[in-house]
Amino acid sequence: MDWQTAASTVNFQTRPFINGDWFLQGAIAAGAAFDTCNPANGEGLARFSGADETTVAAAVVAARDGFKGWSRRSPLDRKAKLLAWAERVRMNKATIALLDSLEMGKPITSALGEVDAAADFIQYYAELADKTTGEMAPIEVAHGLSMTYPEPRGVVGVITPWNFPTLTAVSAIAPALAAGNAVVQKPSEYSPSSALKMAELAVEAGIPQGVLNVIPGPGAIAGAALALHADVDKLHFTGSTGVGKQLMIYAGQSNGKPVMLETGGKSPQIVFADALDIEDIELSLAADVFSNSGQICVSRTRLLVEHDIAEALTDRLLARTRDVFRAGNPLDTAVNFGPIASVAQHERVQSYISVALEQGGRCRPASLAGELPGQGFFVAPTVVDEVDTGSRVWREEIFGPVLSVMPFRSYEEAVALANDTSYGLAATAWTRDLGRARRLSHDIEAGRIDIRSGNAPGQSLAHLSAEPFGASGHGVLGGKRGLEPYLRYKGVQFLTG
Ligand code: NAD
Repeated sequence: MDWQTAASTVNFQTRPFINGDWFLQGAIAAGAAFDTCNPANGEGLARFSGADETTVAAAVVAARDGFKGWSRRSPLDRKAKLLAWAERVRMNKATIALLDSLEMGKPITSALGEVDAAADFIQYYAELADKTTGEMAPIEVAHGLSMTYPEPRGVVGVITPWNFPTLTAVSAIAPALAAGNAVVQKPSEYSPSSALKMAELAVEAGIPQGVLNVIPGPGAIAGAALALHADVDKLHFTGSTGVGKQLMIYAGQSNGKPVMLETGGKSPQIVFADALDIEDIELSLAADVFSNSGQICVSRTRLLVEHDIAEALTDRLLARTRDVFRAGNPLDTAVNFGPIASVAQHERVQSYISVALEQGGRCRPASLAGELPGQGFFVAPTVVDEVDTGSRVWREEIFGPVLSVMPFRSYEEAVALANDTSYGLAATAWTRDLGRARRLSHDIEAGRIDIRSGNAPGQSLAHLSAEPFGASGHGVLGGKRGLEPYLRYKGVQFLTG
């Protein structure tokens, strides 16, 4: 596929998708319009007529209508429609991946993989749609029947970030729709197009109009209007911790809707000395922090290394990052290290490197294959050590390709350092000691924990259920339990005689 040619002819739909169609807004509030730009070269892409309060209200009305029909369909029918959507997504993989790559700078091969993962995610929840059951409670047979059963919640608002525009959206939308809800999604203003395309495909797949609506727009306008809307029954948010807290306030100021948060992280990766001889361990360490140019909520940005091997392992990682990552134009299929997604985020990441230097840190660029392009918002992968645990680079989420390294001398110190954070999204520990591995999986305060003694690939996001700790959010994401947040339970008794 010639991605460069495809990029020059790509079509951006720039209006909200409401009730199965491109929404014609009347007088669009000037403040809601916004522009997108390609972070690989800084060039403008499209101007979107973002959703204002009136548009958001129209989307909620459409979703309420959509919900009435969708929730009454048989679970088998919902499953069939969702499976058809997954298939459509696979068929349109190139278009969706190209939109994400252009808008957020994700290398095209990674973007294609993300669309595959998103389709798998939809399929996983489609197949759960007809396997959700309630339970009977004991009651004297002569007197009736007593049971608890799940029902969908209603209209679910979904607000998503730019780093995995397709996958994070689907990780909330797929379980919400499988459970019988209707959705209004507010994608990031940096990467709105794949969400719009996905909603169009949903209708083509037979999901009724109004069941999935997409309202691009600035967070402070479209996102706030959705979160404050009194007819939204539940809100799912993926993004920064600060905005997540604000959404809980909005929920309290409106109808008290439950808010599920998947927010920031500062995840540790712990390496014990017995893991040093694991072949290519430094390649996995580099991959787990620099993939997507570090713009992953679960990036393992704090590397804790047993003291005696810390220097040697860090040097290996610095020298061999080039064996994992090639920088360049994201539309080149050989490239897997792209730019930072926006000019604001680019400045933010660079400012952290300056702060690390000011606070006495040693900052070294890791080796890369290929040249960092002279244009666009690129930042070289950077390894920081010789900082203390109070430094900002060690404590705060940077959301860029910056790894901080800290040595430890005992199991207890490693666990204390790993848990010394307000976040608790994910963690990895490398050891061959089974007993220690078991203790670690208990002692580390994070929702997603990988214990590794080799380089085997992990299970996909869809299959594992996990719930974050602390400032990383709350609510179960993934796996069978990932349907629960989108259901409410009724206790019903039939009493006779
Ligand atoms: P962000 O919080 O700035 O924005 C996320 C979304 O919220 C966007 O759609 C934005 O428009 C919207 N928003 C912003 N202000 C709003 C407001 N006042 N009211 C309503 N909506 C508003 O986050 P980002 O910069 O897009 O993404 C990066 C952050 O996302 C990082 O902190 C990262 O850790 C987090 N993230 C978390 C996960 C997870 O699963 N835990 C996954 C991906 C990203």
